[in-house]
Amino acid sequence: MKNLALHWKILIGMVLGIVFGFIMNTVDGGKGFVSDWIKPFGTIFINLLKLIAVPLILASLIKGISDLKDISKIKKMGLRTITIYIGTTIIAIIIGLVIVNVVKPGAGMSADTIEKIKAKYETDLGVTDKLVKASAQKDAGPLQALIDIFPSNIFQSFVDASMLQIIFFAMFVGISLLLIPEKKAKPLMDFFDSLNEMVMKMVDLIMLFAPYAVFALLANVIIAFDDIEILLKLLAYSLCVIGGLLLMIGFYLILVSVYTKKSPLWFLKQISPAQLLAFSTSSSAATLPVTMERVEEHLGVDKEVSGFVLPVGATINMDGTSLYQAIAAVFIMQVIWPEGLTFSNQIVIVLTALLASIGSAAVPSAGMVMLVIVLESIGFPEELLPIGLALIFAVDRPLDMMRTTVNVTGDATVSMMVAKSLGKLRDNPEEKKWDDRFDKVK
Ligand code: ASP
Repeated sequence: MKNLALHWKILIGMVLGIVFGFIMNTVDGGKGFVSDWIKPFGTIFINLLKLIAVPLILASLIKGISDLKDISKIKKMGLRTITIYIGTTIIAIIIGLVIVNVVKPGAGMSADTIEKIKAKYETDLGVTDKLVKASAQKDAGPLQALIDIFPSNIFQSFVDASMLQIIFFAMFVGISLLLIPEKKAKPLMDFFDSLNEMVMKMVDLIMLFAPYAVFALLANVIIAFDDIEILLKLLAYSLCVIGGLLLMIGFYLILVSVYTKKSPLWFLKQISPAQLLAFSTSSSAATLPVTMERVEEHLGVDKEVSGFVLPVGATINMDGTSLYQAIAAVFIMQVIWPEGLTFSNQIVIVLTALLASIGSAAVPSAGMVMLVIVLESIGFPEELLPIGLALIFAVDRPLDMMRTTVNVTGDATVSMMVAKSLGKLRDNPEEKKWDDRFDKVK
């Protein structure tokens, strides 16, 4: 067990968590036991990852940029990153739309089933809550998203963990450090370098706890599934989303092998701990420290690139989310608003799902909140919205786990592509084994 690779340990933790969750579902008082005594360990783990996310972004980005020594390189990297991010997201949406239009998972759902799902979930606080959140997003002015990138108080941004604001600040600091004499810049650069190393070590230490944490997280997810019947009713829809997500992963693997000339299997093996965590936590933001560690130390992407590409990606590049939003929007229309299924509405979906995925926070369920905005953009009747959300609510968590995995894989793929294009991809990333490194700590 001691020498088992980390991704196997995490996988075993996940499987045991699922089995344990199912057992607890059948035992009297089992659910209470899981939420009182098991779930907190998962929460502690997520808290620890979030704790280090802000110093990690700050340190790695400032260091990455000030190491570039050349402003034109930053422009080149920024432009490439954003272009590839937008390109992959549009491809994801198109894959989603094609699948949902061909399979038509929503066609022919009986009125009886719709009523049943509606009755079960419409009054659910979760749905109402999501509608309130979505309307707050919608009420902001057209340039609010732009304004939100520029912080007026960086400590507030730290408190709120506003990633885009922190990224902006770190780039501002990094570029300014580049523009002052080297002698003056050095102490601060050394400071951020050392901070970066320290936070990376913290990721290693936190990850030792990962197999136990995913056990807790998954056991807790399982106890929430009690209505298997509704889940089965939504199977066709879920399979469309899962099929689309798998195609997306296939697309990434092709990109990795064709563009970076690396073996897709090797890529999957190196990135898998981050994927498994994305799956267990449903949050790209919480997974970010681990994604960075894997990409830098195991995939061989230079810190200058990963320090920029990954935090930006975790915030704006959500291919899994956009694919899901496209499928979910059309599925809901197929079930309760078939007259809305026009070609022009689907074109609008491509645009709004792109924007909605950029705007989705990297936290659990965010994609579902932003789905409301996608639906509203095509004139979806207001009074049908709660029913629409209720429809997909039951299966949202498992789909969230899967789309988050794709989001994280997409970020890792693009970081490799950008690194390759800038000559910043190491050929033989030094294979550091997790346990070896821990031996040093011990
Ligand atoms: N949970 C997703 C993420 O963090 C966002 C979503 O809900 O789709 O990447």
